[in-house]
Amino acid sequence: MILLGSTGSIGVNTLEVAKKFSIDVEVLVAGKNIELLNEQIGVHHPKVVVVAQKEDVAKVDHTNVFYGEEAIVKVIEDASSSLVVNALVGFLGLRPTLSSLACGKRVALANKESLVACGNFIDVSKIQPIDSEHFGLWYLMQERPISKMIITASGGAFRDWDVSRLKSATLADTQKHPNWSMGQKITIDSATMVNKMFELLEARWLFGEGEYDAIIETKSLIHALIDFKDGSTTAHFAHASMQLPIAYAIDPKMDENILGHVDLLKVGSLEFREISTERYPIWEIKKELLKNPVRGVIVNAANEIAIEKFIAKEIGFMDISKTILHAFNKFESIPKSAEDVFEIDARVRSYVRSAVWN
Ligand code: NDP
Repeated sequence: MILLGSTGSIGVNTLEVAKKFSIDVEVLVAGKNIELLNEQIGVHHPKVVVVAQKEDVAKVDHTNVFYGEEAIVKVIEDASSSLVVNALVGFLGLRPTLSSLACGKRVALANKESLVACGNFIDVSKIQPIDSEHFGLWYLMQERPISKMIITASGGAFRDWDVSRLKSATLADTQKHPNWSMGQKITIDSATMVNKMFELLEARWLFGEGEYDAIIETKSLIHALIDFKDGSTTAHFAHASMQLPIAYAIDPKMDENILGHVDLLKVGSLEFREISTERYPIWEIKKELLKNPVRGVIVNAANEIAIEKFIAKEIGFMDISKTILHAFNKFESIPKSAEDVFEIDARVRSYVRSAVWN
């Protein structure tokens, strides 16, 4: 396989799965964590390596090292592996997704921003998503009429905070996720509920038009539910580990044991909550976005810049959602092609970067 984002949370889990099932790793792509990358090279012996910056090339223990975004696309085109695992974070992952598909490779896609921004122009038949909610929906689906597909959210780091405290929440506070250990950006997206909005959009592109919604399940043991027309509801239970969706994305015929089962007697009880717009203001645009999912590019670009500003302490935590809502109302652009997506993304970023509002 070709693994993009090997040093991240999904990347590390993917290499565990690769080791367990003796899958060859032809290419490793990482950002700046060269120490971990060198360890991975020692274990998996890739033929080619790509890092983010030129100054890191000499620090990599390998003779075939490239750097930068263009190099990522080039190594995908040149490699013989038919599977690309895209675990890059952010819009940066979109070009590699498009290039992989253009050269006929199958994509195991953790990089949800690819589908959120450009779902209309991606052939989802060549994609297997790496996300527990979509894995759950896929697992539950059968040839029966569905009335609604529901995914669950943990509620993120602030689900139990008094809403009045949220505006002073810090970056360190956002990272105290109750159930999952993930990369920095997705953990912030979890606290704002942007992550769940993205997953609804992903579901819309992957499974087509229909009714989609999300609720909070505080233990993250149920990942998806399907309401069937006949009145039955089924739920997908699994422990909070990405190894299950990763294993299936790599090999959809997987029949080995990956995780221990959920013991309901030990779990005892479950708690469900509604997603409120007071705590998660982004939820205000859920209906509009699902009606018009091509506008995901605006939400994604505004979110990435707002997060940069939050990390730089230029704006507060609640300003992330405010920024997204503002950009969503200002830009009405509808992309007509993948290249339009890049153009709209750039315009929204530039606007949000320079904008100041209260
Ligand atoms: P991380 O931040 O942990 O990892 C991101 C990876 O991308 C790292 O390997 C990082 O390298 C690499 N990277 C960043 N910038 C560059 C660059 N310029 N060039 C090359 N590589 C780069 O993120 P996660 O693993 O948590 O998430 C990855 C994707 O998967 C996201 O889209 C997320 O939404 C999605 N996802 C994550 C889940 C999870 O459980 N973590 C669950 C479902 C989806 P380095 O660290 O070396 O700088």
